[in-house]
Amino acid sequence: MTYISHLSCSRTGQRYPAGEIHNLSTAGAPLLVHYDLERARTELTKERIEAGPRSMWRYAPLLPLRDLRNVVSLGEGWTPLLAAPRLGAAIGCPNLAIKDEGANPTGTFKARGMAAAVSLGNELGISKFAAPSAGNAASALAAYAARAGLEAHIFMPRDVPRANYIECKMFGAHVTLVDGLISDCGRIVAERKDAEGWFDVSTLKEPYRIEGKKTMGLELAEQLGWRLPDAVFYPTGGGVGIIGMWKAFDELERLGWISSKRPKMIAVQAAGCAPIVKAYEEGAESSEFWQDASTVASGLRVPKALGDFLVLKAVRESGGTAVAVSDGELLEAGRILAEAEGLFAAPEAAACAAAARQLVAQGFLGKNDEVVIYSTGTGLKYLEAWATLFPPDPRPEERLGGLILPR
Ligand SMILES: *Cc1c(COP(=O)(O)O)cnc(C)c1O
Repeated sequence: MTYISHLSCSRTGQRYPAGEIHNLSTAGAPLLVHYDLERARTELTKERIEAGPRSMWRYAPLLPLRDLRNVVSLGEGWTPLLAAPRLGAAIGCPNLAIKDEGANPTGTFKARGMAAAVSLGNELGISKFAAPSAGNAASALAAYAARAGLEAHIFMPRDVPRANYIECKMFGAHVTLVDGLISDCGRIVAERKDAEGWFDVSTLKEPYRIEGKKTMGLELAEQLGWRLPDAVFYPTGGGVGIIGMWKAFDELERLGWISSKRPKMIAVQAAGCAPIVKAYEEGAESSEFWQDASTVASGLRVPKALGDFLVLKAVRESGGTAVAVSDGELLEAGRILAEAEGLFAAPEAAACAAAARQLVAQGFLGKNDEVVIYSTGTGLKYLEAWATLFPPDPRPEERLGGLILPR
């Protein structure tokens, strides 16, 4: 069973009932889901959670689904938290661990959010989902829609990583490639959704992807024995993960399962698209649209996030910071990460390794701080980006009787 009680506008606090289809609040802001944690505190136990399934649905009492028979699952969540001593030594931060979200279905943590949103839609009788996506959200939506036998309508920039396009086509989604940015794709979905009867699952335009991503924070606490590390590095695009994790920590404290200690939340962006970093440095409450956004870390290519004010608030309340790294730095850090730990991570995750090195060098983090990097996806989905590290051998091969021999 779920302890869901209601939803509220993240700006005005206006209440909305649970059990209905919702997108943005009437004020145009993301909605947040609330639970009756007073009651949960007296009824729900850590032991019960610990005895649950080895997926994010072990946290079902803190998720919005009313009937678990409506869950659409591919086994998402409960990803490994890996000690990373060799990478830690290389970047000056020995007490380092990596949460390997690349182990999720479709190879990224987007699976968590979409599993929650498609499950909720399924429960509420939705049959058509639509989303603009710079890549991995599309793959996850396409997979979960296919898993449920429902329709996915996807709008992606023409230059998305090839893997994302092929995945969506394999899952039978309706895919439109757009000459433009993710914001242009979003406009198309917004214009057409009413006439087409689509449930718009755009980042933060519906309340449930946050709930799915929240489980990253719940898991971190559980895997550390119901406590939190000193710092969390999170590659920030739309910011759903940071918002979700920050919410998770609050809910766990209100359940009495963790103390009030919070990790420093460190939002990592790419130098070619760093609106949150700029706003953080300027002391602004929200960000401005980033012109000519460009980075190989496609999940970070979000020029303006709807929930930017929530991300900035979490970063500041936690005593964290926001950091940008160049594509060159992040690709190099990704190679070091892979070689040191055997983990081939997405460029977004590699950006966190580069940022951690920077912050240790600057003394923002202590040498013995316990640090966790969210590796939000697998590197295998970005072969075009990684291939730039390995230019093809210019030497022509020799062909001899059908044998190809390197010279
Ligand atoms: C989408 C994505 C991000 C950014 O996630 P948000 O929670 O929206 O900030 C980071 N890394 C990868 C691999 C992604 O696909």
